[in-house]
Amino acid sequence: MANYDGIIIGAGHNGLTTAAYLSRSGQKIMVLEANPEIGGGTATEEPTLPGYRANLHANFFMGLSQAPLMHDLELQRFGFSYLEPEVQQAGVFRDGSCVVIHKNLDKTCDSLARFSKHDADTFRELHHRYVVELRPLLLSLTYNAPLSPDQLRDRLSGPKAKELLSHAKHDLFSVVSEYFNDDRIKTLFTSYMHVITTENEPGSGMVFPGIFANVTGFTLPVGGAIAYPLACARIVTAGGGAVRTNARVREITTSGSRATGVVLDDGTTITADRFIASSIDTPTTVAMTGRDFFDDDVIGKLDNWHWGNHSLVTLHLALKQAPIYKARDFDPDIDAAFNVFFGMEDLDEVRSCFRDCERNRFPDVLMGNGACNSAFDPSYAPTDRHSAFWWPFAPYATDGDPTNWDAKREHYTRRVLDVWREYAVNLGDENVEARYLYTPLDIARQNTNMVQGAVRMGAYIPDQLGVNRPHPCLSGTRTPVEGLYICGSGVGNGGGMNGAPGYIAANAIVDDLGLTRDWTPVAPPEWSE
Ligand SMILES: Cc1cc2nc3c(=O)[nH]c(=O)nc-3n(C[C@H](O)[C@H](O)[C@H](O)COP(=O)(O)OP(=O)(O)OC[C@H]3O[C@@H](n4cnc5c(N)ncnc54)[C@H](O)[C@@H]3O)c2cc1C
Repeated sequence: MANYDGIIIGAGHNGLTTAAYLSRSGQKIMVLEANPEIGGGTATEEPTLPGYRANLHANFFMGLSQAPLMHDLELQRFGFSYLEPEVQQAGVFRDGSCVVIHKNLDKTCDSLARFSKHDADTFRELHHRYVVELRPLLLSLTYNAPLSPDQLRDRLSGPKAKELLSHAKHDLFSVVSEYFNDDRIKTLFTSYMHVITTENEPGSGMVFPGIFANVTGFTLPVGGAIAYPLACARIVTAGGGAVRTNARVREITTSGSRATGVVLDDGTTITADRFIASSIDTPTTVAMTGRDFFDDDVIGKLDNWHWGNHSLVTLHLALKQAPIYKARDFDPDIDAAFNVFFGMEDLDEVRSCFRDCERNRFPDVLMGNGACNSAFDPSYAPTDRHSAFWWPFAPYATDGDPTNWDAKREHYTRRVLDVWREYAVNLGDENVEARYLYTPLDIARQNTNMVQGAVRMGAYIPDQLGVNRPHPCLSGTRTPVEGLYICGSGVGNGGGMNGAPGYIAANAIVDDLGLTRDWTPVAPPEWSE
């Protein structure tokens, strides 16, 4: 086996982001992936019928136009590009009304003003604050290792920064209710705030500014989410490295206090001269390395790692015609909306859905968001056909047993489709060519990194966010084991298609090894007025 400078465990988008950056720094990298295909949470498959492509997990890449990755890695040159639909989000309601969020601010405010002039004005103000003014700060918070509350207070000063940090005192529902008055608008934004599946606990309000900043920054990967890992893999091989599939790592080997290599399930040993970065969940990474290397406090926390109260159940449809929502009579722009929310009519229904998930019940109120990608990028379906999905929130285990997802698959498929049909007028059998339900149990089977169907490799609760993810000793991607880094969603800024943990780990490795870089790192967070 050839010698490698570094080994990356897991070929999802974070592992491959780290690998691609380090390849650009002249490192020879081996990326090891357990599955037969690379991609992890960026898998694109044809689950309904041949030619109908679907992103099984990540579909909405948020804030890519601002992220450093596109430019630094020249991703377009290596085959990755994205679309940014003009009509970004919509919430549709049973009575045929809808709220529509455009890239164009005036159009959004016109839509909101049909419900509340106050809320339209508030949106304009928040847009100015987070999407325009504080955007560089939010970007530097995302692409740098998380700071402790004290460090944040030291580095960020002035009324705007104070306002930004003040959200951390509240839960998400109350932040939204504080800003907006109208019930439907509150319902849409509360649901929108959950697109990153935060649990609504005290303190969860801290994610509000970052998520709000992306409200008009949703992009669709051209040809499928898989285009991102494929582009990064090309960068790795262009740099003399390799990406190996069907290669599950079972152990990280050490010599003294230094990481030296890995052992695969089949017994193969692969060594690395300089570093190892694991993009898989932190409890597994620590177990594979040896618990003795880590403080009791870290081990205690990882032993009680909270995977999340809710996952997602996705209904994929192969269609003759794209979904048409009843709400088109109210606002024809709904026809062009990318990310469409429905199922929840008011805040009580949103609460009821999450309560059911927490109690491991199939929710009485099915609510969530979805899209018809082929309406924007025809490569997602055969000519004149469509590929659409809707993913309501759901628990990993229904009635306490995850295998119920298999036993009752037909029943659950009907339940999800029936709700979708309440909002869309053309989803009768004559339009639906095939359907496929991808359940939380399927998620866990497809990707062992998504334990219990965990969308984010660990719940988004204040104790598992920012510097607490997974623990202040590890959140910066470095570990107590020399040469071992964690570059996946279980650290720092968490999951989601922004490549942030992968990017932060790559920069840490470059700094520690004194390597050269051909990119300028995102400046550390600073704000004063
Ligand atoms: C249904 C669903 C919908 C989602 N939608 C969105 C969305 O629209 N937008 C968004 O931003 N995010 C979304 N997410 C979250 C997103 O998919 C994840 O945050 C992201 O994919 C995590 O990337 P990662 O590289 O950290 O981990 P992963 O993509 O999980 O990569 C880890 C890789 O490691 C491999 N692996 C595991 N164990 C081993 C081992 N022992 N040895 C070798 N390899 C191993 C896995 O097979 C996997 O390929 C969604 C998630 C789900 C489940």
